[in-house]
Amino acid sequence: MNPLPRHDHYIAGEWTAPADGGYFASVNPATAEPWYEAARGTAADVDRAVGAARTAFEDPRWRDLSQPRRGRLLRNLGDLIGDHAERLARTETLDNGKLLREMRAQLAGLPEYFYYYAGLADKIQGEVIPGASRELLNYTLREPVGVVGAITPWNSPLLLTATKLAPALAAGNTVVVKPSEHTSASLLALAPLFEEAGFPPGVVNVVTGYGAEAGAPLTEHEAVAKVTFTGSSGTGRRIARTCADRLIGCTLELGGKSPNIIFPDADLGSAAMGVIAGIFAAAGQTCVAGSRVLVHREAYDEVLEQVTARAATIRVGDPLEETTELGPLALAEQLEKVESYVELGQAEGGKVVCGGRRPETGLDGYFYSPTVFTGTDNGMRICQEEIFGPVATVMPFGSEEEALAIANDSAYGLAAGVWTRDVNRVHRMAARLEAGTVWANTYRSMSPMSPRAGFKTSGMGTEHGTEVIREYTRLKSVWINTSEEPAGDPFILRS
Ligand code: NAD
Repeated sequence: MNPLPRHDHYIAGEWTAPADGGYFASVNPATAEPWYEAARGTAADVDRAVGAARTAFEDPRWRDLSQPRRGRLLRNLGDLIGDHAERLARTETLDNGKLLREMRAQLAGLPEYFYYYAGLADKIQGEVIPGASRELLNYTLREPVGVVGAITPWNSPLLLTATKLAPALAAGNTVVVKPSEHTSASLLALAPLFEEAGFPPGVVNVVTGYGAEAGAPLTEHEAVAKVTFTGSSGTGRRIARTCADRLIGCTLELGGKSPNIIFPDADLGSAAMGVIAGIFAAAGQTCVAGSRVLVHREAYDEVLEQVTARAATIRVGDPLEETTELGPLALAEQLEKVESYVELGQAEGGKVVCGGRRPETGLDGYFYSPTVFTGTDNGMRICQEEIFGPVATVMPFGSEEEALAIANDSAYGLAAGVWTRDVNRVHRMAARLEAGTVWANTYRSMSPMSPRAGFKTSGMGTEHGTEVIREYTRLKSVWINTSEEPAGDPFILRS
């Protein structure tokens, strides 16, 4: 058998073998076969990458680059990603099993993230503060923080990297990215494009490996000035503790258990398709998955009937096929986790009305059927814990107040969907739902322009939009005495 292709770390623009010589295999979840090996990073590799990023941060080629020029490099990178989109999309599908159709759409939209922040790069600025006295000039400088450590999950590898990389670079930082150990391939395929776009070596570095071995040392490294993380709430908490000890900032985008709420006056056909999109797209492996479906009693039977009818016809299979609608789960552990939650839901008293098993696909991968539960109570663990798979619980409610109470009865607060034709109700619900994103009569819409934040245990800080620039800059206040008068009484505070 031919040996698997092997990939090293990408540090200071060079492919760099791991310090201790270790590699690990990454598995294609559609076939359960390993298909490449990536360097198994350790603290020594992280140290090298952070050192390269720190050197690049102080290198005049990057430090003194004008902001419009920084924007130009981001635009170049966007163009290059556009040129390589098909290859990158296929790589992501082979690594995480998401539909090629979906990864193509994600990759086609990816340049927009770089164009958006390219346009913002020359608009990052301080301001002049009104002088406390005529002689004192006071202004602020908005400066990059330094080396940013970015840690990402496996479900949308490049999209979630871009949401960190584009604003961090626009603000003038340098970055070390540690992708998920399950999906290193697309970022490694992208890495040489950083220098091709014109970024000096070391501005972006990639260290692959496991969370405990490569991720943790990145958050602990003394030269890392900021951590940005997307992943599970458990890991996020651990990272926040490390950052608190080090007194550095962290941005956390974490898990969810999002409600998708349907009122009887909605277009019920569209709402049912919104439920399908919310929980079965990407096999439920999206942070914003609408896993708790709340349906008004008057519409309950009809919506349940439409959702289960469509769920039962979802074509499960090879994610590379154009006609497939649901690919495999990304990991064997994820499949086991979904199975154990389905068992738990039944043990808790829930009833599986659709799916609840591994389907026949003719492939050896980690497939699971679209699954719908009824008879669940919001207090049950399957309604409170993130499953991250194609499992919906459909629960009835009787009033707007009750829907809000159930929706907000969650440790998470990432997203929520509302389906109704009543515009006043939309505004009332949007104001009272405890979620960083509220969608009405749509689900899963996103854009680099729109801020994205997790409330409660779904995160800390904001991504996307202009607001994110604050996460990657620090503010300095500069005071200048413009007076020619001799200094006054040194024992009196000047203001
Ligand atoms: P995970 O927390 O297991 O891993 C995420 C990343 O953290 C990986 O790169 C991993 O290697 C690294 N890591 C693990 N332990 C670490 C440690 N101790 N120190 C530093 N790094 C460490 O998450 P996952 O299973 O890869 O991703 C799924 C989770 O991501 C879900 O909870 C999902 O909701 C969440 N997610 C959130 C968003 C969002 O925008 N809010 C988007 C996508 C996914």
